[in-house]
Amino acid sequence: MKTIKERLSILPQEMPLQEPLARTRTMNEVALGYREEQARQEAERCLGCANAPCVAACPVQVPIPRFIAEIQDGRFQSAIQCIKESNLLPAVCGRVCPQEKQCQSACTVGKSLKAVEKAVAIGRLERFAADWERKEGCAALPPRKAPTGKKVAVIGSGPAGITCAAECLRFGHDVTIFEALHKTGGVLIYGIPEFRLPKSIVEAEIDNLKKMGARIETNVLIGRTISLTALQKEYDAIFIGSGAGLPKFLGIAGEDLSGVFSANEYLTRANLMKAYERERADTPLVQSKRVVVVGGGNVAMDAARMARRLGAEDVHIVYRRTRDEMPARAEEVEHAVQEGVIFDFLRNPTAIQGKGQVSGVELQCFTLGAPDSSGRRAPISDTAQANYSFECDTVIVALGNEPNPLLTRLYPELKADSRGRILVTEDYKTSVDKIYAGGDIVQGAATVIRAMGDGRKAAHALISAAGCSKAAAGCF
Ligand code: FAD
Ligand code: SF4
Ligand code: SF4
Repeated sequence: MKTIKERLSILPQEMPLQEPLARTRTMNEVALGYREEQARQEAERCLGCANAPCVAACPVQVPIPRFIAEIQDGRFQSAIQCIKESNLLPAVCGRVCPQEKQCQSACTVGKSLKAVEKAVAIGRLERFAADWERKEGCAALPPRKAPTGKKVAVIGSGPAGITCAAECLRFGHDVTIFEALHKTGGVLIYGIPEFRLPKSIVEAEIDNLKKMGARIETNVLIGRTISLTALQKEYDAIFIGSGAGLPKFLGIAGEDLSGVFSANEYLTRANLMKAYERERADTPLVQSKRVVVVGGGNVAMDAARMARRLGAEDVHIVYRRTRDEMPARAEEVEHAVQEGVIFDFLRNPTAIQGKGQVSGVELQCFTLGAPDSSGRRAPISDTAQANYSFECDTVIVALGNEPNPLLTRLYPELKADSRGRILVTEDYKTSVDKIYAGGDIVQGAATVIRAMGDGRKAAHALISAAGCSKAAAGCF
């Protein structure tokens, strides 16, 4: 048994990565995953804290010390079983959770070594266990209870919808998922690029749902193809997980020029419509030379790194604050830098220039002031520096997304706040009887794990309300 001192002296394991230049020529996953001996070595760093602050900092309370102890002892099957008690998509979360702001931010090891990046790599270990299970082919479907005869409609097949559907299926309810797009998975499929989250992982999870008995109807936009009222007549309960897919724009001159994209459109073309297969894609993207991406979040990093892979020679991220204030994950920023993305901090476009087609952006300079309500230092216009023009042929606006407004506009009885987020009770009930909601349509653009947490809690509330006891609902 190692002492605390010995555990704290074990060096953190580096994630093996594809070589930067090579990876900008392919869509293959950048992070290759821990090898078995690396996973066990990293697991040895965990102190198994009795109070487990990491668990409290995980939105779905994965039993972290328990699953890491299993990895320490080489019992990988038990490790994945522990994780799946509270997280149905560990291969996804291990890859995309902002761990340094969630579980790892509270890790005692990181705090003792005074550096969050030295915390136990919980997400990487979670990914390791999930990948091990997939490679071994030993994933078993969760058991289903006897059919209850109740029918649930799930609107949207993103992480909130997938999780809600899985929980209802496990309880024996009959589930139909309605998805507006031709592919299921929500942002996991159309937004987050293959090089961060291989689509085969998401597809395997959707296949599991089908094997558990879910019916999936794609190309069905609820509110247009089928009305919400028709669903209310046919189903005992409805869960809305329609996400936040409405991009924000800058509201400046020139945004209607050809060559300006929202990050959502750009990434959807690339991921969902496979625009990188230029000869075969239905909606190919033009070959850009110099791309300006506006924004500092994960979506901006994804768009910039995708632009490099689509052949742009020069990709600039324009952001009005500095690296310290960027909301993007530190790892994504580092990967973008390694791949040759250039960061132009303390800048923001005031106009997009061109005739028909983008030829440049006019940039304004900023300096930083005192922290604003977000807790980050606020950008203040730097009047000592004149605006200037910066040549480019493509502009990608990555300023975030707002909730999809279709359902709340069509059904005013479905109450929403001023930002279009559907209002729900603690039990995820909307203002309309038997309709529940969760994920980005309730939180605004948030995270995969929060959307999953909502889907799970809404499913439990829905199951309880349908006449099943709370204890039974909580037995998943
Ligand atoms: P979504 O994933 O948006 O799924 C909603 C689904 O509902 C969509 O498939 C949509 O087509 C469908 N739909 C909408 N309206 C209807 C309708 N009327 N009828 C039928 N179907 C409908 N989070 C992280 O944690 N880590 C990351 O690294 C990360 N990176 C991101 C990168 C990008 C490019 C984007 C856009 C987001 C990223 N996020 C990330 C955020 C995360 O993906 C979302 O918070 C999460 O997917 C929300 O899940 P959801 O199920 O609520 O909605
Ligand atoms: Fe292990 Fe860190 Fe959690 Fe403690 S806080 S149990 S060291 S992962
Ligand atoms: Fe950390 Fe996300 Fe896993 Fe929770 S689900 S333990 S936040 S990586």
